[in-house]
Amino acid sequence: MRVLIVEDEVKLAALIRKALREQGLLADVAVKGEDAVWMASSTAYDVLVLDVNLPGIDGFETCHRLRTDGVGTPILMLTARDAVDDRIRGLDTGADDYMVKPFDFGELFARVRALARRGPAARGTVLTVGDLSLDTATHAVRRGGVEISLSTKEVQILEVFMRHPGQVLSRYDLLEGAWEIDYENRSNVIDVYIRYLREKIDRPFGVDTIETVRGAGYRLRAGA
Ligand code: CA
Repeated sequence: MRVLIVEDEVKLAALIRKALREQGLLADVAVKGEDAVWMASSTAYDVLVLDVNLPGIDGFETCHRLRTDGVGTPILMLTARDAVDDRIRGLDTGADDYMVKPFDFGELFARVRALARRGPAARGTVLTVGDLSLDTATHAVRRGGVEISLSTKEVQILEVFMRHPGQVLSRYDLLEGAWEIDYENRSNVIDVYIRYLREKIDRPFGVDTIETVRGAGYRLRAGA
């Protein structure tokens, strides 16, 4: 397994690299986002560990460029603050998971392994529920033929709903489906995303397909 660490704090980068190598992983270091973009385009990494605070382009922009370039490698973002805004921004630019500094190396390994197991984004199915459709390869979402623009994370959550139409999904189910690793304090992130999704896939069309099920979670109405 090969990991690219993108971190300008040389001592921390070296520590992470040493720790990953001790676990039997191959690890390279990039100190700038620009370097990471070309390294990840030319080498097949299993996981990228990407710090948000970098000189030049920051981690968000680096992530965005990688995804725009078609690099599907799972990305674990390192953020300095436990701010919901930062998490959402990171996930929206295409990161798969995040950790707040300072972090525990044991947890870092667990998350890197989980992301590596997941592999690059799966390609190629069109899901349909009522007049709503989602192409999991292109992330194109349409209701009644009208294209809807959603962020990466919104698409991932919508995909969980669309794979289980009519079923009540708890926040835990949605977290697990869209993030793989459950993390208790992310449940409010789900509520924020549900609001975003309703604003985009329901409200403009005068429908109400994402239902709140009190005390249980949410449900995408199957016959919408
Ligand atoms: Ca940094």
